[in-house]
Amino acid sequence: MYPPSLSESQGLWLASQIQDWELNHGTMLKRIHTQTAHNVLCYPVAATMFPTLFPRVQFDRARELQSIYNELYCVLATEEQWIYDNIKDLFPVDPFAAALWEIHEKVKANGGYVQDISAGIFRSDYMLQGEGVEMGGDESFDPRSDLELKQVEFNTIACAGGCHANKVVDMHRHLARTGAYNSLTDDNLINLPVLPPNNNIHSLATSLAQAHEVYGPPKSNTTETAILFVVQPNNFNVADERPIEYALWDSNIPAYRVEWGNDVLKHTSLSATKELLFHPPWQTSAKPVEISVIYYRAGHEPHEYDQTGQDLRFRLEQSRAIKCPSILAHILTFKKIQQSLAVPGVVEQFLPADKVAAVRKTFVPMYPLDTSETGLHARSLATDPDRSENYILKPSLEGGGHNVFGADIPAFLATVPPEAWSAYVLMQRIASPLVGNMLKSSQGIEEAAAVVSELGVFGACLWRCTRAGEGEVLRNETVGWSLKTKFADVDEMSVVKGFGCFDTPLLC
Ligand code: ADP
Ligand code: MG
Repeated sequence: MYPPSLSESQGLWLASQIQDWELNHGTMLKRIHTQTAHNVLCYPVAATMFPTLFPRVQFDRARELQSIYNELYCVLATEEQWIYDNIKDLFPVDPFAAALWEIHEKVKANGGYVQDISAGIFRSDYMLQGEGVEMGGDESFDPRSDLELKQVEFNTIACAGGCHANKVVDMHRHLARTGAYNSLTDDNLINLPVLPPNNNIHSLATSLAQAHEVYGPPKSNTTETAILFVVQPNNFNVADERPIEYALWDSNIPAYRVEWGNDVLKHTSLSATKELLFHPPWQTSAKPVEISVIYYRAGHEPHEYDQTGQDLRFRLEQSRAIKCPSILAHILTFKKIQQSLAVPGVVEQFLPADKVAAVRKTFVPMYPLDTSETGLHARSLATDPDRSENYILKPSLEGGGHNVFGADIPAFLATVPPEAWSAYVLMQRIASPLVGNMLKSSQGIEEAAAVVSELGVFGACLWRCTRAGEGEVLRNETVGWSLKTKFADVDEMSVVKGFGCFDTPLLC
């Protein structure tokens, strides 16, 4: 039986091993409002007590797919007209989409983009489809035929979880190498060869460093270039950002941070030739630093686009700095775009046939909720209390907590004026195989016979888009992954918001 069942004292012992690791490696979330100069209260990031069974073939497959997804999204990011055609119907019903497009238009009307290179740190998320399949429980189990890898979503901005994933994998691997796990079980299953290592922190920093290198020497009257992390104020999740920043400094690449809001306007300026200059607030007399790469870990939520938010994004987008991501690549994260790509014949316009087949295999049915024929069919599914059970209603928003699941959809839609329904897409629910594990979170230790996992694969890209709209991919790499696991009866997944745990696959 996997994982083994533990006595109470064994459970507490294992939990304390995990907690010590997390404490010593900064795998923590801040209780931000209790912070004073001498005191910061933190709690450990939720983690699984044991690695979770996950088929090696699907783990490898997801990582192989990343270069195809990277290519698709790099190409799409240069397809301005296609993006416009696919999101313009959102503008009247989704002010966020409208605000982003307006900033894009404003940049074009004010002399246009001066930087033709963009960077992307993407994350493609998958779940395994295979309802009722018992992984590892039965000799006849064959992941190749019994399971399929299905894409949950594709993220193009502020992709989080990389640092926590890295450290939680290190933690599970540490417990395996000390023999801690195998002391709790007779079957010696949990060993390093079946626990893949994870180097997200190093590889995400390297991805930014490569963009920094491509930017080249300063173009303004300054001597230093640096990467700028644009971050959310009062962030309780700094432990998922800072390690990347520190890794850059360790490679002798300066990386500064500025909080989304007035601080960006106060501490940056544009030179006459549109270099982005950062004026570190702690060095008022020093020369400004020229920013090579803007790494957005903010700006992906609608509430951030008040007048200040719009003004600061406009300034950053106008600048010569390489954006990670550009505004067009940012818009590609919308669920509306994912749904458009699922329409027959669409991916076919952007990829060769063998690659089309590979990505299409990961799609589950997705529908618009507009007044087209498909949209009306989707409306009939979404408003039917029985048939809606199999679906998830999604607005084009990020970060967890916005979706409406299954039987809740009809009642929710009853509260939305029908003319605003086209802001949503309807996606078929992926039914994952169930495995057991124990989850450790601020709720305590909970054992479950049924947990489900989500594998995210990080990709890093650099691409060029000329003013004439000609595109060229300069870098396309698969740089890391994260595994998150939750109780099967929990709909959402966002570890830092209290749903699910970081995890390591036990490859089977
Ligand atoms: P967000 O941008 O808020 O992260 P997601 O599309 O990733 O939105 O959905 C949030 C969570 O909801 C996912 O992490 C997953 O746990 C669950 N979910 C989303 N789509 C599906 C689906 N088609 N089938 C099963 N679960 C899903
Ligand atoms: Mg998600």
